[in-house]
Amino acid sequence: MNSHFTDEGCFDLVRRLLPPAQSESMQQHLQDGCQRCNELYNIWKTIAEVTGREVFYEPAEQAVRVAKAVYATRHRQYILPMRVLRSNQKSATGGGARDNTT
Ligand SMILES: [Zn+2]
Repeated sequence: MNSHFTDEGCFDLVRRLLPPAQSESMQQHLQDGCQRCNELYNIWKTIAEVTGREVFYEPAEQAVRVAKAVYATRHRQYILPMRVLRSNQKSATGGGARDNTT
């Protein structure tokens, strides 16, 4: 392989998505010591490792339920009264415009 890696090609190499011949050619290029491509390879390898781990960061179902319940409570306590307050202020100033914010 005479040319340097592209980001896409390097990311595919890291994820082992390339045909064997292309993969071997690129591995040889790395072993030949191309500093630029080795740096690129290491960057994409790190990214693949981190994004691969993201799967394990799925929040627990119970935590999602609690978060939604808290949000719903806060929404009723703070946001809805503020809408009424704003609506009343507009009425008092004779603005007459409806509050369409959601
Ligand atoms: Zn290179």
